[in-house]
Amino acid sequence: MKKAYVIDATAIFAEINPFVLDGEVYIPKRVVEEIRDSSSKFRLDAWISAGKVRVVDVGEESMKKAEKEAKKTGDFPFLSQADLEVIGLAIELSKGREVVVFSDDRGVQNVLLSLGIQFKGVKRKGVEKRIVWILYCPSCGRTFPPSYRKGVCDACGAPLRRKPRG
Ligand SMILES: [Zn+2]
Repeated sequence: MKKAYVIDATAIFAEINPFVLDGEVYIPKRVVEEIRDSSSKFRLDAWISAGKVRVVDVGEESMKKAEKEAKKTGDFPFLSQADLEVIGLAIELSKGREVVVFSDDRGVQNVLLSLGIQFKGVKRKGVEKRIVWILYCPSCGRTFPPSYRKGVCDACGAPLRRKPRG
């Protein structure tokens, strides 16, 4: 099977070398747009113009699947749009390809684990066990569904936290 790699911002900051990877390397458009650091931007631009890294606008259907899975694990409220695009792109590419995602983001890794998509931590070891998170208010004890993205408690305004279920 053809190999494909997906990289996120943490992989670029960690200065991975895409040229040593034996397959196509992809990055979601949103991740590219959010790179502000000039040396990272410079590296990424060089990879793109050399034709080693391809920028992809992730399809809606794959994004929906990514969101659905992130809600299942409870990572959704803590993932940015760029994080979700990394997951969505991995889903999209996994049709007919063996995909490996390079990311140090624990939430991204957890959702990928849940999807059965491979990943590698860049600077640190990746998560090994899938966690299902519960979103709760440490002040009044209320719990919230994973689709809740306000970050503060509806009832008392305290910042929400999360804990693993079970
Ligand atoms: Zn509360």
